[in-house]
Amino acid sequence: MVAALVAFTFAMRRRGYSGFGGNTVVRCREGHVFTTIWVPGVSLKAIRLGLARVQRCPVGKHWTIVKPVKDDDLSDEEKQSAAENRDIRIP
Ligand SMILES: [Zn+2]
Repeated sequence: MVAALVAFTFAMRRRGYSGFGGNTVVRCREGHVFTTIWVPGVSLKAIRLGLARVQRCPVGKHWTIVKPVKDDDLSDEEKQSAAENRDIRIP
């Protein structure tokens, strides 16, 4: 189980999700970009949901579905937003 989690985390990192398994940049349904903590245990659950999860967006202050964003898919503006908006909630 642990090996599977580690393998998954590395697989995601190879695909361009550099922060996977820790601080991860995500985008909500409204297009807000922020940084959250996405732990592998939660991620495995998220896979079944299509790599998405429901959480509170600190930018729009609303509940929404968020999905991880690849570093390459972020504009400079979005990287700025992700750096400024962090969900500090402990998972
Ligand atoms: Zn939002």
